[in-house]
Amino acid sequence: MKTDRPIVRIAIPAPSRRSFDYWAGKHDLAQLQRGCRVRVPFGSTSRVGVVLELTDHTDIDVAKLRPISATLDTTPTFSADLLGLLTWAADYYHHPIGEVIFAALPAWLRQGRVARKQASTVWALTATGRLATVEQLKRAPKQAIVFQRFLEATQGVTEQTLAEADKNWRNPLNALRDRGWIERTEAIAPPVAPQRDAAPTLSSDQAKAVSRLEADLNTFSVHVLEGITGSGKTEVYLRIIERVVRAGKQALLLVPEIGLTPQTLERVRQTLPFPIGQMHSGLSDGQRMETWMGARDGSVPVLVGTRSAVFAPFKDLGLIIVDEEHDLSYKQQDGFRYSARDIAVRRAQQLGVPIVLGSATPSFETLRHCSSNRYQRIELTARVAGASLPAVKVLDVRSQKLHGQLSPRLLEAITTAIGRGEQSLLFVNQRGYAPVLMCHDCAWVGECARCDSRLVWHRRDGRLRCHHCQSERPAPARCPECESDSILPIGSGTERIVEHLEERFPNAAIARIDRDSTRRRGAFENIISEIQTDRIQILVGTQMLAKGHHFPNVTLVGIVDVDGGLFGADFRAPERMAQLIVQVAGRAGRGRRSGTVYLQTHHPEHPILRRLIEHGYQHFAKAGLEEREQADLPPFTQFALLRAEAAKPEVSAEFLVEARELALSMLPSEDDVAVLGPVPAPMERRGGRFRAQLLLQAPERRPLHALLGPWLPALEGLKSARRVRWSVD
Ligand code: ADP
Ligand code: ZN
Ligand code: ZN
Repeated sequence: MKTDRPIVRIAIPAPSRRSFDYWAGKHDLAQLQRGCRVRVPFGSTSRVGVVLELTDHTDIDVAKLRPISATLDTTPTFSADLLGLLTWAADYYHHPIGEVIFAALPAWLRQGRVARKQASTVWALTATGRLATVEQLKRAPKQAIVFQRFLEATQGVTEQTLAEADKNWRNPLNALRDRGWIERTEAIAPPVAPQRDAAPTLSSDQAKAVSRLEADLNTFSVHVLEGITGSGKTEVYLRIIERVVRAGKQALLLVPEIGLTPQTLERVRQTLPFPIGQMHSGLSDGQRMETWMGARDGSVPVLVGTRSAVFAPFKDLGLIIVDEEHDLSYKQQDGFRYSARDIAVRRAQQLGVPIVLGSATPSFETLRHCSSNRYQRIELTARVAGASLPAVKVLDVRSQKLHGQLSPRLLEAITTAIGRGEQSLLFVNQRGYAPVLMCHDCAWVGECARCDSRLVWHRRDGRLRCHHCQSERPAPARCPECESDSILPIGSGTERIVEHLEERFPNAAIARIDRDSTRRRGAFENIISEIQTDRIQILVGTQMLAKGHHFPNVTLVGIVDVDGGLFGADFRAPERMAQLIVQVAGRAGRGRRSGTVYLQTHHPEHPILRRLIEHGYQHFAKAGLEEREQADLPPFTQFALLRAEAAKPEVSAEFLVEARELALSMLPSEDDVAVLGPVPAPMERRGGRFRAQLLLQAPERRPLHALLGPWLPALEGLKSARRVRWSVD
């Protein structure tokens, strides 16, 4: 209904899909523009919210409306275009607008603090400090932590940031000052001068890629930069970023995980003569806030960040690059389940700027857009600097005598590599010692009490751990069922592979890289630097090793077991397997010497494996897409998944059955959207809760969105909804 006084419509982080209406009260309407933050009463508490619009209509009973308590911004926190993007994302992913908007805000702003640059004392590295390393502070760990902050910061560090990260900052800071490594500065200091030698001359492929990108700098376009690892994609990014920044605009470079690939950030920093901001989960709230404001006011021209950086504010964004666009970490897996890559494309479109999606193994979705000419493909076909592609050999391990999963051929190849002073890298898809612990006498196996899964034996810590719910217990010395003491590990994780290698190569230095061995701060960086300085002969690791590292002396890559990927239940399993094989293989022979990749398998003739090895990823993807088209799978059909979980299986089933009926009653015709299920989720019980799902399938997006729009809010009203946790993907 129409009102005589102004109403403010506000987004508040709450599981409800609607926005909330309040009276403007006596507040200055200039501070109630779209994008401004306000404080409002909410139930018996108070919340920070963001103004969506100022209006004179409401559907709420006006007698129940309350006035906002306070305004928090003199100018809007969100620009119109960023708020437009967030509203689009909330609609597209059918997620509550308040939660979407708040996911894009630094913690301080969510708490209602004022967005202004801190009037705090700033410290910056001196010329000596810039040459110093954390290693020199081995005996002064507190100083090392503070010093690390300086290495991470682009333009000096405020005392406020230090204080917030750690209570004990003053003494280490003074000690660093006394060493002459840092000094007080007037304001945020100018960037570190680049240490780059002359830029390399671009290969002809690279030069072509750069000129094609330059030709499209002032309009929206999606270019897919497809090049094998080591083909010089990063070099192309750097050139084009530099070009954009020199034209007075900003650039956003999204990377999968900064912790795993600090090299990319390091290279950007050492190459580009501009302040480089970074945004990822390792930052303190204060650092995040500074970068956020720097990007917004334009003083940070280049921002390198992970998934959530796609929501960073910019004064004048001119280019987006998504590196390793196929990487799963771009997809948020809980809460607001978005794809940062897809949002990045939308953002580029909305701003009319180019976006580059780079990968050695583009996702099938992306390749499909290339074949329908929505995206333009640019290929880098050769490795730069004369490095050649590794040869791939399939090792049939059937009836071979394995030494802890390692075949004689693979062991021989490792021996040869060591003899030549080269490094070997073994990929294992499982951390821990063994994925299963079993009793030899009664066949008891260690199972998780809260999930449908087996407990992984972590022998070094003497624990059995569930990798799904993190519950754990001591590993038993005897069988809990029959008291037999012959309990055996089945299968091998990284720990066990390392143990076998240690027996076999007692004089070799072996490193293990997985989430367990790199948990301690700085551990990952240490191992990487040991590899790069050739102190390691054999490295054994999980996916963490597949990502963009440059190990020039690795000439042998072994994938211990590729069979898991051949028989996965998920229709995307072959795509993932192929990406992983190509990415891991890409670690081999990146230097002057060529490399070899060994794939161990019990199914050497499997058509999927043969296709990849004989014809390469491009052909593999093309054939895979054709199969998906025939089988009516994404991206040729649209899926939406409604998930529910509850302490009892009947409860989630009941909710999903009601949800299904509701959907059917809302559909104009059953041909528009197929409603499939409910069925139990692939791992039904997880963390003590029973999970089930309902699948909606439609040939096109439109009817699916048309149903989801009214259906999801209606689900909130179901009584059974209150007894389950549910979400849509
Ligand atoms: P990608 O990102 O495709 O893996 P990079 O851009 O990291 O490839 O290049 C791989 C290596 O080759 C890097 O060490 C890089 O410095 C070097 N490089 C890239 N382009 C050239 C070039 N045109 N000439 C010489 N070296 C190059
Ligand atoms: Zn037993
Ligand atoms: Zn569990």
